[in-house]
Amino acid sequence: MSVPPAAQAQPQPPQQAGKVKLSVYTIEECPACGQKTKRAFQAGDYITKDGAKCSKCGNVTKMTLIYAEPMVKSK
Ligand SMILES: [Zn+2]
Repeated sequence: MSVPPAAQAQPQPPQQAGKVKLSVYTIEECPACGQKTKRAFQAGDYITKDGAKCSKCGNVTKMTLIYAEPMVKSK
């Protein structure tokens, strides 16, 4: 009946919880020429949604990727 403490589920990671700030980005990709544009995520963005017009050829881009990366501290 005894369960070792290490075998119990740990609800939180042991370190860095809440310390790393994430920036969320949206990648808009042009289906015509492949131009990819990275910009800050905006509320309402989702994958396959139409993005802005391509800066190269003027086609409407599609959002193909939304991801977060750790905010880099710049000195
Ligand atoms: Zn294009």
